[in-house]
Amino acid sequence: METSTNPINIYPIIAIRDGIVFPTAENVLVFGRPRSIKAMEAAMGAKKKVVLVMQKNIASEDPKVEDLYSVGVIATIDKVSTGEKDQINALVKGHQKVKIKRYIQEDPFFLAETQDIHDDTEENEEVLAIVKYISGQIKKAINLGKTIDFVFLMNILNIQSSSSFSHQVAMILDIGTDVRQSLLEETNLQLRLQKQVDLINKEIKVLELEHNISDKTQKKFEKNMRDTFLREKMKTIEEELGEKNDNQEVNEYKKKIKDAEMPSDVRNKAFKELKRLSKMSSYNPESSYVRTYLDWLVEIPWNSRGNENIDIKFAEKILDEDHFGLKKVKERITEFLAVMKLKNLKEESIKSKPKAKSPDFQPSILCFVGPPGVGKTSLGKSIARALGRKFVKISLGGIRDEAEIRGHRRTYVGSMPGRIIQGMRDAGSTNPVFMLDEIDKIGSDYRGDPSAALLEALDPEQNNSFSDHYLEVPYDLTDVFFITTANILDTIPDALRDRLEIIHFAGYTEDEKFSIAKNYLIPKQLRAHFIPKNTAKITPNGLNAIIRRYTREAGVRELERQVATVFRKIARKIVDHTEGKFKTNVSNTQIQDYLGPFKYSDSLLEEKDSVGITTGLAWTQAGGDILFIEVARMPGKGNLTLTGNLGDVMKESCQAALTYIRARWDKFGLPKEFFAESDVHVHVPEGAVPKDGPSAGVSIVTSMVSEFTGAKVRRDVAMTGEITLRGRVTEIGGLKEKVIAAHRAKVKIVIVPADNKKDLVDIPKKVKEDLKFIFVKNIDEVLAAALVPKTDKSKKKSK
Ligand code: ADP
Repeated sequence: METSTNPINIYPIIAIRDGIVFPTAENVLVFGRPRSIKAMEAAMGAKKKVVLVMQKNIASEDPKVEDLYSVGVIATIDKVSTGEKDQINALVKGHQKVKIKRYIQEDPFFLAETQDIHDDTEENEEVLAIVKYISGQIKKAINLGKTIDFVFLMNILNIQSSSSFSHQVAMILDIGTDVRQSLLEETNLQLRLQKQVDLINKEIKVLELEHNISDKTQKKFEKNMRDTFLREKMKTIEEELGEKNDNQEVNEYKKKIKDAEMPSDVRNKAFKELKRLSKMSSYNPESSYVRTYLDWLVEIPWNSRGNENIDIKFAEKILDEDHFGLKKVKERITEFLAVMKLKNLKEESIKSKPKAKSPDFQPSILCFVGPPGVGKTSLGKSIARALGRKFVKISLGGIRDEAEIRGHRRTYVGSMPGRIIQGMRDAGSTNPVFMLDEIDKIGSDYRGDPSAALLEALDPEQNNSFSDHYLEVPYDLTDVFFITTANILDTIPDALRDRLEIIHFAGYTEDEKFSIAKNYLIPKQLRAHFIPKNTAKITPNGLNAIIRRYTREAGVRELERQVATVFRKIARKIVDHTEGKFKTNVSNTQIQDYLGPFKYSDSLLEEKDSVGITTGLAWTQAGGDILFIEVARMPGKGNLTLTGNLGDVMKESCQAALTYIRARWDKFGLPKEFFAESDVHVHVPEGAVPKDGPSAGVSIVTSMVSEFTGAKVRRDVAMTGEITLRGRVTEIGGLKEKVIAAHRAKVKIVIVPADNKKDLVDIPKKVKEDLKFIFVKNIDEVLAAALVPKTDKSKKKSK
């Protein structure tokens, strides 16, 4: 350590570029710069000692004082010999670390005042342990191929002191000069050794990696040698047998390329690749890549179909034939088709200009949004049928990599075009109805943004030259009818959403499900199971039982599955039946024989009005649903507990509800100390499904007030609405889905925020007829409608 008592000495200073000589170490250095030689000469005359100091920038030819580090090493110069071009080779031996205090001369060589510095850690057990570890690691590094000068190795192995060991190690580490200098400047021995541990370990890691790589390269090399040898041998055999006929393959490709009716630039590209292929030995592994590429080029459709004649009446008929109901959706689709038809007519009329596009026509892309099983996919298929086009569907769920949409470059092994081009190949025509399923489920990460690539495919401004990384040639997607589908809108990236024309599918009422099953699903499943005509029937009450007791969904997918199960079992019965003709009618009494015990209870109404439990309405990705909010109170200290997998927003609603009621204790007839002496627990059963959103606010307040006051909540009432701290009830989303769910659950009355009155137009007529709607502006109105008035005069809870 540097101390002010250390004496000041004067030494010639030599700037060195590399090869610090640490105290106790030796090294041969070459000196050539005039200043260095002058300093050597000066030293030779005196005590043969100089101070070696690293320059900060090794490229600098003539470093100045400020270009030098301020810590160096006193070294003796020995065994001097002249080398090439007047250079001097010398064996230098390091002695003592010094700090340069002041330069007193710059020319003809540097001369400076220096002061010795010493390490400040004594040897202790920890230091010795680190020394031992490092020497073990050095041996390991040598085994992995590290080269060390023999002299250095001997010095290291003959450890004299930990400090000199550390200095010797600093000489042999594979590190940059700045790191080496920092080791020199570190005077705390233990810290310096610690740094060296990190450095040697890093070096070992690199050596291990190199080792692995060279191992693999060696194996690969051997395999390549063997393959080449075998290929040559095979070639000779084939030549001997006269079987080789590369020309045939080339000719086949030529014909395919001509038949594919590609645009001229694509054809040129294809021929160029073919030429490459013809020159390759068929054993060149690259030839198979070129072949795959050519296969793609000839297989995807290129020849544009041009404008089709859209027949709206016919389309309408097909849509009706395939789907029950969905009146609004069908209307939107036929309108969309009408616009397409007019566009085609216009383009027809300006056809003199080749490939003219009506400039201001910006067709948007349809996006079907709704819960699963409501017919989004099958409607897409119908549209294809109505237009006489092919139908393809790709699922985008879970895609995070742009290359999934746009393909990998051909340099990647196993690369392929992206899903869009794959879809086009499957379609086999340039104008399919192309369904992009689940666009609300695409993600993005460091591998690029798939939605950007998707936008390019969908955007009519750019999609006449969609670029796929694999294809390398632009592909025209203008004739494709893209339809996207999603369960929810929120997660669709904004840029994409702007381009979409959203069409909502809300889910079906029980009556609608009944008609769909009767007219579509049952005939379809009868055919699918080859049930002979007039053999099996599901009676109306049998069908209703399937709908009510075995399914609880917005769509009809599960319903279709259950119907299929019934027919599968019937098929088995028909086959097993030996005497006479088999015939069956499945009614609600037999249905359990086919589908097992009921899965759902028929309705909420079976249960009685009770205290502390309210029916709320929720909106989920799978459509609307009902949920129960339970509240319990027990003596305690004013804590609020929430259970049932509630989201943050719902937790806040619970807090807000409690605050609202606490602030009005007297109005609810509660004693002032009631809340301070109670713990409140809110639970929403069916815990696995996450529940969130503010719209449970009214239900929470109702359950709480009921529990606190002992008034029962009506079981035939369901409600939805957000509340403010002042008790106002505000607008909520997804009303249609929620109301349909309430109807499904056979609720009689629904309490809805007054602000949502406008959404009533969307609700199916039958639902409106069956349900009584109560529109509310504040929580008092909710409580008045939902709570059963108590006969008991005393309002206080007796519990
Ligand atoms: P999604 O794509 O919305 O998840 P699907 O299109 O796969 O739903 O529909 C599931 C099944 O229900 C299909 O067999 C479909 O034909 C049938 N389906 C749905 N809605 C209707 C409807 N309105 N009329 C007739 N069948 C329907």
